Amino acid sequence: MTPERLLPHAALSAHAHNRMGLRRTDAAWLAEQMADPTTRVLVVAGNRLRPVDGAVQWIGPDEAPEGTLVLLGDSGGVVHVAVVVPPEGAPGEPDEWVPLRSVLALLADGTPQQAPLVMHAIGLAEWHHATRFCPRCGGTLTSRAAGHELRCDRCDRPQFPRTDPAVIMAITHGEGEDEAILLGRNTAWPAGRWSTLAGFCEPGETLEDAVRREVLEEVGVQVGEVDYFGSQPWPLPASLMLGFTGRALTTDIDVDGAEIEEARWWTRADFEAAGRSGELVVPRGISISSSLIESWFGRPLDGPGWD
Ligand SMILES: [Zn+2]
Repeated sequence: MTPERLLPHAALSAHAHNRMGLRRTDAAWLAEQMADPTTRVLVVAGNRLRPVDGAVQWIGPDEAPEGTLVLLGDSGGVVHVAVVVPPEGAPGEPDEWVPLRSVLALLADGTPQQAPLVMHAIGLAEWHHATRFCPRCGGTLTSRAAGHELRCDRCDRPQFPRTDPAVIMAITHGEGEDEAILLGRNTAWPAGRWSTLAGFCEPGETLEDAVRREVLEEVGVQVGEVDYFGSQPWPLPASLMLGFTGRALTTDIDVDGAEIEEARWWTRADFEAAGRSGELVVPRGISISSSLIESWFGRPLDGPGWD
């Protein structure tokens, strides 16, 4: 088993494109790309895509509708852009357009090299979709820098795409056979589903302190040492999931009852037995919570014993 296999969340970001930031303000170059039939265009309606025959559809510039141009960048020597149109201006039938969540598995399985381009496009489309007026004066906005800036037509205030940092953490205590991982159950989840704890970083807070605060608030456990694990873009609508491992200083659990209804420590033996019996269901596939749990467990969750 390769170490990469224990990081399934990397499937969506392993083929990063060159974002060509310096070209975003080069109007002549952008016009040339839009006149070049080899340029690939992804149409986004509001924040939705229209997959065709189980694949995200890229078209030529001459087939693209009028809309807000977003330069995504170069992938495999080909320039990729998105054109964002209002939902009411979308071609085809409204129910043909689906949210990003519906195409994530499709991207991971079939065409992972497209995933960063699609995440980039949807992240910006979400932002354009949600940001209609200047937050300072209420004026209308004009897209600049090939979709990466919105400027107020009245007061000239620029604003930039948001990325909201969220922490997600595998907290452990004990050593060897006794080492256990802390998993919780959200009040909204179906019976048997457990996952790592997570929460948003607050203004003025470090990521490490956000990990410690969220764990203390949600389950009453104090966390000491915290280490960075990895990140996952999650533009649903604007998150960057920042994964951490952490060591608990205390083990007594006192759940908040609001967000988390139950939490407990699982040793690898408990975890495996409950996983085999179906009593325990944890995130699988492409989420960073899956990577955090697999890395602690030491082998993939979809291997022997988890089928
Ligand atoms: Zn303004």
